[in-house]
Amino acid sequence: MKKHDLIINVNSLQDGENKFSFAFPAEFLNIKYELDHRVILKATIYKKNKKLKLVMNVSFKITLICSLCIEKFHRNVNTSLTLYLIPFRNDNKTNTELEKKDLLTEQYKEEINLLQLTKEMILLWIPIAPKCKVSCKGLCPTCGINLNKNTCNCKEISKNNAFLKLSNLIKNERN
Ligand SMILES: [Zn+2]
Ligand SMILES: [Zn+2]
Repeated sequence: MKKHDLIINVNSLQDGENKFSFAFPAEFLNIKYELDHRVILKATIYKKNKKLKLVMNVSFKITLICSLCIEKFHRNVNTSLTLYLIPFRNDNKTNTELEKKDLLTEQYKEEINLLQLTKEMILLWIPIAPKCKVSCKGLCPTCGINLNKNTCNCKEISKNNAFLKLSNLIKNERN
């Protein structure tokens, strides 16, 4: 398949339900994250009086780096989005009407770019600070050891150091 297959011309849609199913190479998305080869997209477009409701479901496998322990980890992701689309009108009236409605309403100009939307869904899903697991212990701030795999005794030492610094600080303030 080609990238262009993911761009839907609204005029080609019939009133009612239109279902699409794609499996396309991750390279199509052109994002700098490590994605498994195939991205699965299921989209249903309901059309009525030129108004559209788009329901998208995207499945992908991504490799991320844990922000705590700096190890790579994989995640199988399934994410959904519902979007309402109305025909583009180049006047201010429509824009003010749009603002009053919910944020998930957008305008379309003949085409719906499912590839672009899929890309946005994936980027939106990616956490700012990914964690390999909720209970990740991260790295020891002193020796840098991965605390998920190993233990060290820096914690006790640094605790003592902290107390030492604190007591010195108090001493200095008193003098
Ligand atoms: Zn981690
Ligand atoms: Zn340590």
